[in-house]
Amino acid sequence: MAENFWEELGTKFKTAYEEAEKKRKADFAMIKNLPGILSYLKDLQGEELLLLLDQARKIKKRKNPKFPEINGDFYNTFDLLNAEEKAIVLRVREFMNTEVAPIVDDYWMRGEFPFHIVEKFKALNICGLTYSKDLGGQERSNLLEGMIGQEIARVDVSTCTFFGVHSGLAMNSIYLCGSEEQKKTFIPEMIKMNKIGAFALTEPEVGSAASMGLKTTCKRQGDTWVINGEKKWIGNATFADYIIVWAKDVEDHQVKGFIVDRVTAGLETEKIEDKMALRIVQNALIRLKDVKVPEERRLQNANTFKDTARVLKTTRAGVAWQAVGCARGAYEHTLKYTMDRRQFGRPISGFQMTQDLLSQMLSQLTAMQTLVSRLSQMQDEGLMSDEQASLAKVFCTVGCRAITSMSRELMGANGILISNKVARFLGDAEALYSYEGTKQINSLVVGRAITGQSAFT
Ligand SMILES: Cc1cc2nc3c(=O)[nH]c(=O)nc-3n(C[C@H](O)[C@H](O)[C@H](O)COP(=O)(O)OP(=O)(O)OC[C@H]3O[C@@H](n4cnc5c(N)ncnc54)[C@H](O)[C@@H]3O)c2cc1C
Repeated sequence: MAENFWEELGTKFKTAYEEAEKKRKADFAMIKNLPGILSYLKDLQGEELLLLLDQARKIKKRKNPKFPEINGDFYNTFDLLNAEEKAIVLRVREFMNTEVAPIVDDYWMRGEFPFHIVEKFKALNICGLTYSKDLGGQERSNLLEGMIGQEIARVDVSTCTFFGVHSGLAMNSIYLCGSEEQKKTFIPEMIKMNKIGAFALTEPEVGSAASMGLKTTCKRQGDTWVINGEKKWIGNATFADYIIVWAKDVEDHQVKGFIVDRVTAGLETEKIEDKMALRIVQNALIRLKDVKVPEERRLQNANTFKDTARVLKTTRAGVAWQAVGCARGAYEHTLKYTMDRRQFGRPISGFQMTQDLLSQMLSQLTAMQTLVSRLSQMQDEGLMSDEQASLAKVFCTVGCRAITSMSRELMGANGILISNKVARFLGDAEALYSYEGTKQINSLVVGRAITGQSAFT
């Protein structure tokens, strides 16, 4: 027998006695009040009694409400897709929920890329969906592509950026600016994701002003081009097979594009560390020192920055969809949180001011969703203009920033914990806001179109 056996038994007995005594006192208090309660009830009319019962039921319901299903697609834009397209989006949803959601916080915190998911990603067969079938594409709609972007970003914006840099920026550069031969050489393997692409436009000293003066130069020497300079922020660049490098020709001063193998003499990549957004995306600083590229690797239909802008137009629409996905993920996590979190004896989702913020978030999200859906429909009809893509990029990234911020607010202190999801969305929204043309630059594109005057310089 343990030395302190009697002592422990005594403590247990005392605790049990005290609990029983507390309950007895509570029961007694109720019984003591019973005559009063009964006399009050006795004097009530039948109708008043019913009202009282109704009130009691309401209080019970308020404390333990039955929650409706969480739906971040309030105007049902999903229904704009046909059955086959919906099935593709649902496959992506399943993949993101089962393969990415469980690991994303960990990889985001470590700033590493989960290479093991790429093989499974390939199997989704969602790359180059809008491309012609002879190149391995599926000739599907931009609307479907946008909805897929939303679905990926709804779980993780970094994964969406990895995919967008490869299938949007890099592949579209070749698809829109390459010769027929270049398309046939590079696109099919990139569609299968056997070869991964990156897109190098931004430089340490030239960001927004890329159209005015890249410092990276290219010089033709016979059938070879020699490229010198530096590029910054280049997503996927640490591991991509091909990097689309944009450089200014020293002869005609026009911007030209090149499909450069990452493993080329003179090209070095250095990972950018310590980001507070899109930490899974491997952004790099690239140094190019006398990098030699054959003429056959120069994008044959990229002759001025206007051609680079043709690529950016398509990807800006893609970033608008990413912002919708990011905002939707944050909204849905937050709504769930407000249903689970209880203060003052009831879920915080039942408070008026919480509902005001939730409906503000939803109205902004719905406006963004319907806007990008229409944008993609116009793109499918061949009618989308630069300024329409820019307007959507601005509207959706501004909205995304606001929604993720309200999400954080509604979660109180728990909102700053990565494990509660919205802090990651909040950080990632900052990168969406700035890349592919900042809010100011895209607003200037819109401003130029609606006033007929360029205010860039
Ligand atoms: C996570 C991430 C990934 C990226 N991936 C890539 C990539 O893969 N490839 C690539 O090429 N680039 C990439 N970028 C770079 C991105 O496109 C640039 O950051 C962006 O174009 C802005 O350039 P900047 O950061 O140099 O800002 P700056 O041009 O220095 O601008 C700083 C501020 O000044 C404002 N500003 C500048 N000019 C004007 C003006 N005329 N009028 C009013 N305001 C002005 C801007 O709006 C901004 O607020 C990435 C960036 C990030 C953050």
